[in-house]
Amino acid sequence: METSISKRFAFAFLVITFTSFFIAGGMGVYLFNNMVQTTIQNEIGHDLDAADVIFQTQLTNTEEIVKYSSGYSRIRDNLINNDSAALRQGLFDIYNERFNDTIDILTVTDKHGVVIARARNPAVFGDSVIDNSLIQQALTGETISSTEIMTRGGLLKESELLAAQAYMEFTPTPKAKPRPDTNSTSGMVLMAATPIFDYEGNLAGVLYGANLINRDFTIVDIIKDALFKNVEYDGRDVGTVTIFQEDFRISTNVFTDSGERAITTRVSQEVNEAVLERGESWNSRAFVVNAWYVTAYKPIRNFDGDIIGIMYVGILEQPYIDAGYKILWAYLGFLFLGFVSSMFIARYFTKSIISPIKKLIEGTEAIAKGEFKGIDVITHDEIGELANAFNDMDAKLQNTMADLISSRNEIEAIFESISDVASAQDMDMKITFANRLAKDMYGDDIIGQFCYNVYEGKSEVCDDCPATSLLETGGVVRTIHSKYDNEGVQSHIETTGSPLKDEQGNISGMVMIRRDVTEQKTLENKLRVSYVNLETAYEELKQLDKMKSELVANISHEIRTPLTSIRGYTELMLDGTLGQTTNQQLKGMKVVLRNVDRLTRMISNVLDLSKFDQQERVVKEVGLKEIIKHAVDDFENEIPYKSIGITVDVSDNLILECDADALEQVFINLLGNAIKFTDKGGSVSIQAYYEDEHHIHIEVIDTGVGIPEDKFELVFDRFYQIDASSTRKYGGTGLGLAITKKIVEWHKGTIWVRNNPNGSSGSVFHIILPRKHN
Ligand code: ADP
Repeated sequence: METSISKRFAFAFLVITFTSFFIAGGMGVYLFNNMVQTTIQNEIGHDLDAADVIFQTQLTNTEEIVKYSSGYSRIRDNLINNDSAALRQGLFDIYNERFNDTIDILTVTDKHGVVIARARNPAVFGDSVIDNSLIQQALTGETISSTEIMTRGGLLKESELLAAQAYMEFTPTPKAKPRPDTNSTSGMVLMAATPIFDYEGNLAGVLYGANLINRDFTIVDIIKDALFKNVEYDGRDVGTVTIFQEDFRISTNVFTDSGERAITTRVSQEVNEAVLERGESWNSRAFVVNAWYVTAYKPIRNFDGDIIGIMYVGILEQPYIDAGYKILWAYLGFLFLGFVSSMFIARYFTKSIISPIKKLIEGTEAIAKGEFKGIDVITHDEIGELANAFNDMDAKLQNTMADLISSRNEIEAIFESISDVASAQDMDMKITFANRLAKDMYGDDIIGQFCYNVYEGKSEVCDDCPATSLLETGGVVRTIHSKYDNEGVQSHIETTGSPLKDEQGNISGMVMIRRDVTEQKTLENKLRVSYVNLETAYEELKQLDKMKSELVANISHEIRTPLTSIRGYTELMLDGTLGQTTNQQLKGMKVVLRNVDRLTRMISNVLDLSKFDQQERVVKEVGLKEIIKHAVDDFENEIPYKSIGITVDVSDNLILECDADALEQVFINLLGNAIKFTDKGGSVSIQAYYEDEHHIHIEVIDTGVGIPEDKFELVFDRFYQIDASSTRKYGGTGLGLAITKKIVEWHKGTIWVRNNPNGSSGSVFHIILPRKHN
C-alpha cells in the first residue's frame, strides 16, 4: 500500500517535473530564439541607418570636392571669359594634379547645360546634359548632390574606362526574380553639381562631378569597417554591406566561396518585390550567397525620388546562434540541476506526506481488526486535520461499538430471560440467534438452520407459517397451531412473531417466541365446559328464583287475607263489640294486634323485595329535591313526636334520570331508619351534591345509635338486624336496607354506610347515583 502511494507520488512528480522541464526547456529555446532574432533585427536596423548616414557622407564628400574644384580660377575664369580651350586644358590639368584619386568624373557645362570640358575626356564636348535633373537644379544656382544612374552613353562620354567598369554580366541567381536581360551597361554614381557665377554674380555654367560605385568597394568597406570593425567569425566577416544597382550587386564585401566579391549576383525575388517594387524596408533572416544572415535592405532613390537600387547590411547569424546555444545549454544545465534537486526535495516531502498516511492506514487496519488506539500525527496541515478527524471518528466508533455491545448484551439478556423458546431468523427463515432454552431443546447447532426444519421437522415452509403472515402484515403476529409427536400425542404451540427492521424500516428478519400452551389449552377447554354447565345451572337457578318469588308473592298474598281478618276480629274484641273481655285478655289482644301489624309489614316488605324485579320501571328525568321532600313528608307526624330536627340541604338543580317511586322508597327507608335509631332531641339531615360531572352524591346523616364498623356490610343483608333479640327496642323486619340496596344498584349506583364523623354517635348512609340511567 505504502509503496503504491509512494510510487504514485513519485510517478506523478516525475511526470510533472519532466513535463515542466520540457515545457520550460521548449519555452526557453523558443523565447531565446525569439530574443536573439529580435536583438539582431533591432541591431541590423540600426546598422542600416548608420550605413545610410555613411553613404550620405560619401555623397557629401563628392559634393564638397565639386564645390571646391569649381573655385579654381583656371576653371572659373576661363568659363566666364568663354575661353573653352583654356578651360579644357585647365580642367584636365587640375584633375590630373589633384582629383584623379578622389573623383571619377569632373565636367563643366555652360549656362545652358552644354558640356564645355570633360576632365577625363577633353575631346568630347558640345553635347547637352540638360536632361539631367541635377544639372537643371544646379542651373538654378543651387549646389546639389544625389545618387543617380548614368547610361552607358553618358559614361562613355566621360571615360571609356568608366563604361567598362560599370558593365556587368549577371551571375545566375536561383532565388532572384527573373529578368529578360543578362547584363547591365549603366552605372550608379554619387553625383554632385554646383553653379559657377561670373563676377557680376550671373550664372556662367555648372561644374558636376561623380564617383562610379560599380566595382568600387570603398563605400561598402568604409561602412563595414565603421560598423563591424572587420570582425570575423570562422573566416567570414561578421558584418557585410552591399550596394545594389536595381537588383544586382555592384559593390559588396560579401565573398563567394572562391574568395571573390559577390558582385553581379542578384537579390532574391522576395526582397526585390518588397524594396524595389513597393519601396519598403525589408528586415529578416536571409541566406546571402553562402551563409545565413540577419539582413536589412532599404531602397536607394535618385534626385527625382525614383528607386534605383538597394542598400543592404547583414550580420552573420552563426555567432549569435552559437552564443545562444551556449546560453541555452547553460540554461538547460541549470534547469536539470533544479530538476534533480527538486527530486530530492519532492522525495523529502513525499516521505513527510506518506508517513502520516501510513499511520492513518495502520489506524484503519487496527479499526478493521476491532482495535481502537488512535494515531499520533502532529502536523498543522490538511493531513493533521485528517488525522484529527480520524481520531474523532475512532473515538466515536469506540463509543458506538460500546453502545452496540451493551445493546447486544441487553438483547441477549432479554432473550435468555424469556422462559419460552426464542430465536431470531433472517428472511430466508434461517435461525440467526437462539436463547439457551431453544438450544437446550433443539440442539446447539440450530444457528444457520431453517426454522421449519428445526422446530417442525419439516423440509419446507409450513402451510400456516407465522413468519409468512408476519411478512404479509408487517406487524406482530400470534398464532396457535397443533403438532403431533412420534407417538401421536398432540401439543399446542403458540408462536409470537415480531418483525426486525433495518434503518430504512424494511423488514430484515424476525424474532419468534414459541410457547407450549397444551396445558393451558386443556384447562381452557375444561373451563369452557364448566362455563357452559354454570350457565345452565344459572338459568335453572334464575328459573327457580322466579318460581320462588312467585311462590312467596302468592303465599304472602294468601297470608294477608287471613291476617286482615285476624286484625279485624282482634280490634272488635278490643273495642268490646264482641263482648266483655278481661284486662288480661285485652293485654293479650294488644300483643296479637301488634304482631299482626308486624307480620303485615314484613309480608309487605317481602312482597316489595320479591316483586321488585318483576315490576315495570318508569325512568324519567326528575329533580332530586322533590323526591326527598315527598319522603320527608311521610314522617311529618312522627317528627314532632320524637322532637327530631330534620334538615334537607339539596339544591334544585340536581336532576337525574330514575324511577322516582323506587327512589322515594329508598329515602323513606333511610329516613325511617335514621328517625327510628335516633333518640329524642337528635337530628337527621339529608345532603346532596354533584360528585362529578356524571354523578350525584347523597348523604343521609343521623345522630342516632350508630352502627359498629364490622356491621357496615351486614346491615344490607336480608333480614339482618343488629339487635335481633326478642326484647329489642326497635321494631323492623331487617329487609329495608336490602330493598334500598337493590333499588340503588338497579339505578347503577352504590350505597355504603359509615360512622357520622361530626357527632359522638350516629351514621351516614352514602349513595352515589349516575345522572343518566344508561
Ligand atoms: P329494620 O330497620 O327493619 O330492622 P333494616 O334493613 O332497615 O331493617 O335495618 C337493618 C338493621 O340495621 C337495623 O335493624 C338496625 O340494626 C340497623 N340500622 C339501620 N339503620 C340504622 C341507623 N340509622 N342507625 C342505627 N342502626 C341502623
